[in-house]
Amino acid sequence: MRIVVSKPLIGSAVSRLRESGHDVVVLSENHSQEAFVEAIAAGCEGVLSMLSDPIGADVIARTRAAGKSLRVISNYAVGYNNIDIKACTEAGIVVTNTPDVLTDATADIALTLLLMAMRSIPAGMKLLSEGRFTGWRPICLLGHDPRGKTLGILGMGRIGIAMARRGEALGMKIIYHSRSGAKAELPWAHISFAGLLAESDVLSIHCPLNSETKHLIGAAELEKMKRGSVLINTARGPIVDEAALADALRTGHLFSAGLDVYEREPEVYPALMKMENVVLLPHMGSSTYETREAMGGLAASAILDVLAGRRPSHPVNPEVFELASL
Ligand code: NAP
Repeated sequence: MRIVVSKPLIGSAVSRLRESGHDVVVLSENHSQEAFVEAIAAGCEGVLSMLSDPIGADVIARTRAAGKSLRVISNYAVGYNNIDIKACTEAGIVVTNTPDVLTDATADIALTLLLMAMRSIPAGMKLLSEGRFTGWRPICLLGHDPRGKTLGILGMGRIGIAMARRGEALGMKIIYHSRSGAKAELPWAHISFAGLLAESDVLSIHCPLNSETKHLIGAAELEKMKRGSVLINTARGPIVDEAALADALRTGHLFSAGLDVYEREPEVYPALMKMENVVLLPHMGSSTYETREAMGGLAASAILDVLAGRRPSHPVNPEVFELASL
């Protein structure tokens, strides 16, 4: 069967698919959206997609119109906001993701952003690289200690929990908000969304992007955050209104921010690029050799499972199994 892999991968994912007898087409790193859609519409049973590949109802309709039998879309990410799940389910296409294996790598990046943002690291690096470091001074590049501060987690799932543990190791008090409320197995206090905004010294975002969470943190929510607090976003860019964030940083209402994800990736809101109190990373939460290899392993296994008629380990639309007798 034919499988389209949207970008070159490290590890053995592609060779495993080929060794299983499939015809695997690997697109180039910088392919256009049109090239991606054409490759799918030309006929394939499986797609190994990236979070940067929009797969909307239009794409699904085009594959259907071409009369082809796409059966599985295996997204090389835990987030799947790039895919229209309803359209896939209606078309009988199984969608899978790669949870767990990227939890620690992403929490490590959130922790890195927290420390860099709290300790004014971008300003320090800039001072040095611009040749303005004239020696140690008692009042220079002051930041804040994490110890004793409150870390608020928005979205207490896998990565939120891993981040909370890291915050606790730094001596931070943990509070969290998730829609389903307090989790009995967790030692930390669940709080309302309004309470989370009001009480966090650092707010770290770990919920998925969907129609409910787009601009969940906008001007009004930023205003409700403590003066001098810090915002960390390693989840998805559109959860935060970047223009409002830039304003809150410019006025000093927020002390700093650490971002791995952006509203219009790969674009970054221009004002943020110029600020010294923002740490900006190019969406590298899961970018370790070990994690990316494990993600490839899960993504390839999902395709092999579905094409062999087995249930994959991480379907995001399990209801499709009731509709299509897989
Ligand atoms: P997860 O285990 O599903 O956790 C997400 C949590 O968010 C759930 O516990 C959910 O709990 C909560 N949630 C959902 N909607 C919410 C809302 N409106 N308000 C508050 N909480 C809400 O997912 P995960 O594995 O931790 O991954 C989280 C996200 O991180 C992914 O969706 C992805 O976008 C992002 N991510 C980014 C990178 C990167 O490279 N930067 C890497 C990996 C993942 P309730 O249902 O109880 O609300």
